[in-house]
Amino acid sequence: KKEDDSKYYWESYAGNDIHETMLKDTVRTDAYRDFIYNNKHLFAGKTVLDIGCGTGILSMFCARAGAAKVFAVDASAIITKAQENVFRNGLSHVITCVHGRIEEVALPGGAEQVDVIVSEWMGYCLLFEAMLPSVLYARDRYLRAGGLLVPSHASLWLAPVADPEYVADNLHFWRDVYGFDMRAMQSGIYDDARVLQWATSLPPFPSSSSSSSTSTSSPSSSSPPDDGSHTIVGPPCPFKLLDLYTVNTPDLSFTAPFASAPLARDVDPLDGFLVWFDIFFAPTRDDGGRHDVSLTATADAWARADPQNRVAFTTGPYGKETHWKQGLLLCKPQKARPSAEVGGGEEGKTTVATRKKGDEIKGEITFSVPEDHKRGLSLQVTWDGGKKQTWALK
Ligand code: SAH
Repeated sequence: KKEDDSKYYWESYAGNDIHETMLKDTVRTDAYRDFIYNNKHLFAGKTVLDIGCGTGILSMFCARAGAAKVFAVDASAIITKAQENVFRNGLSHVITCVHGRIEEVALPGGAEQVDVIVSEWMGYCLLFEAMLPSVLYARDRYLRAGGLLVPSHASLWLAPVADPEYVADNLHFWRDVYGFDMRAMQSGIYDDARVLQWATSLPPFPSSSSSSSTSTSSPSSSSPPDDGSHTIVGPPCPFKLLDLYTVNTPDLSFTAPFASAPLARDVDPLDGFLVWFDIFFAPTRDDGGRHDVSLTATADAWARADPQNRVAFTTGPYGKETHWKQGLLLCKPQKARPSAEVGGGEEGKTTVATRKKGDEIKGEITFSVPEDHKRGLSLQVTWDGGKKQTWALK
């Protein structure tokens, strides 16, 4: 079977800019650094495989933590920079750079097993770019029994959003541009997932216990805070946990149920779903019970459980901004049934999606890989107030 080895992918990692962006993403890079430096005993004297080493940053963290040997593999031309970085930092005796796809290279010295695999394989909405299958391939081929995966778990989250201002600025915008009708520009506008930072460091979503105990005339509902939190209308819902020790490539195409309740306010219409992921670094395969590794685990709770040793991060709107931002799946406005139509507004009135404060939004989300774009991602949502809709990330 022919793998996607299209040149564009490796070329996209050959230049400086993309690596600069990743290195300057301190949420990302600090998390790897903190896990590696705060758990030196896991690396000291060990053989480490860094899959997709880029500039070599993670390999150098591991070498500094005392690794005996690090194999730094990358199929992009960036590998020559990695090699020079390793040399300039006096780490050439520990780190060996290898140019090629992990699926195709031979490890130096004919090495057959490694103690640790470290990799930063995550893409938009976690699985865009489809790099995880390469890591799973290497896990099965090279990781010794009882070996360590860094990171170890990932979870996917979703939250319903409603924001008339966003819709006006980005969609209705085309109705009148300097007095011209540019609705032609709207075609396909609901077909692609958008990558954007919806909000940053939001306060926790009001918990279900507090909102169910208050009446519908809660004072906070009359004056939503102006931080974007009121545009996330239902509690974030985790819908998929990937245990990287056990997950297999076919599992990366899946359908998972979600339910968000209670809604913090009336919603009419629902404008879309925001999708993001959390990443966890467990120091042992089962984490020795130190942290919660269930579906509902949060990066926040991990950080609180282990304040000296931050071992998880979120890419959601409740944390600091990362270069992954979030994925926005915009719902197509639904035309009202003719009988319900009043005033005959051209775009139709949205009556179907109406949800009251306290209600639930539930449905299913499907992740799949398009036949014609192996590194792309297709997301589909079916929910109880709307039509089935599919979005592409490409
Ligand atoms: N580890 C670096 C770079 C991460 S970006 C850092 O944390 O900053 C991911 C890198 O993986 C890219 O440089 C890309 O070229 C490489 N890569 C992706 N799939 C690969 C594969 N199958 N084999 C080797 N390298 C791969």
